[in-house]
Amino acid sequence: MSAAALLGESVYRQLRQLILSRELAPGQSLSVPALATRLGVSRSPVREAVQQLIYEGLAVSVPHAGAKVATVDAARVRDVFAVRAVLDGLAASAAATRVTEGDLDKLAMILAAQEANLDGGTDAARDAALDVEFHTFIREASGNVCVVDELSRLEVQAHLYRGDLWCSARNRRVALREHRRIVEALESGDSASARVAAEAHVHGLLTRLDRA
Ligand SMILES: [Zn+2]
Repeated sequence: MSAAALLGESVYRQLRQLILSRELAPGQSLSVPALATRLGVSRSPVREAVQQLIYEGLAVSVPHAGAKVATVDAARVRDVFAVRAVLDGLAASAAATRVTEGDLDKLAMILAAQEANLDGGTDAARDAALDVEFHTFIREASGNVCVVDELSRLEVQAHLYRGDLWCSARNRRVALREHRRIVEALESGDSASARVAAEAHVHGLLTRLDRA
């Protein structure tokens, strides 16, 4: 990678992190000169990073006013999750025919870490990170690169929504039970059950979102 490309990648990652951590809040203007000053870089990598964020759905372009951080409402999250249910079902069903003993060991470790975290007072950020790790692992185990790419692009938008509102400790326990069902189906190598379990998990998330 050239120095310019490395810098561009670094600026993009920093901006993405600022948005996902809400230091740059939904609706906030993404002024290229201001961000270049803030990050101590020139304007062109910032401009390119903002284009990438627009493509990813984390920012929107405003005619004659540059770009701003995307705002995500519950309706949009529902749309994202409806697509996610289908794609995660596809991933789990494919993974069921391909997982190795080593993969199942890794998934068991993630579930154990989630359980330990819930028993130990629940660090919300850690729970969220383990959830991402769990789903990413299954998507990668499916061997379908398109599913991995689509979901990482799509799902990031759901992170803009105030997830803390509906991810109560109780909901996290329910989600962990749903994760166990997915792993059980993968263990038995049953594609149909794996699909059903993965879809049921995302539909469960949606139901809990609606209730919040
Ligand atoms: Zn999950």
